[in-house]
Amino acid sequence: SDEEAAAKAAAVNADTGAPTIFDKIISKEIPANIVYEDEAVLAFRDKSPKAPVHVLVIPKSRDGLTELGKAEKRHEEILGHLLYAANIVAEKEGITEGFRVVINSGPSACQSVYHLHLHVLGGRQMKWPPG
Ligand code: IMP
Repeated sequence: SDEEAAAKAAAVNADTGAPTIFDKIISKEIPANIVYEDEAVLAFRDKSPKAPVHVLVIPKSRDGLTELGKAEKRHEEILGHLLYAANIVAEKEGITEGFRVVINSGPSACQSVYHLHLHVLGGRQMKWPPG
């Protein structure tokens, strides 16, 4: 199940600082379905979508941001840029009825890829609280 997979990911994955699959997406070494790109961020469709619209927004330069929990003062600008880009994605995707932005930070949040990313989810009714 999804829940079991998430629990497994949480147990196995931790922030090692090693390169991630997202580096290969940024370098276009592996293909991604890109929905938005500018000089600092890249947005592409999640390979395992959890909603009709499920896009990941990432900084092109990780610069120590393996997870939100590692954010420092110097990251303020890129953090704002990522959040603003999330709304550009939502507008482009037409999820005007509402959308959700999620950041999983660390094992207890089931983070599986240690390159900061925002999940932009929409196109269906969301529930609260999340799991
Ligand atoms: P996390 O669990 O918050 O770390 O989210 C990582 C997300 O990256 C998951 O939703 C995965 O489905 C997604 N993902 C992992 N590898 C790829 C890929 O190669 N292309 C697109 N999405 C990916």
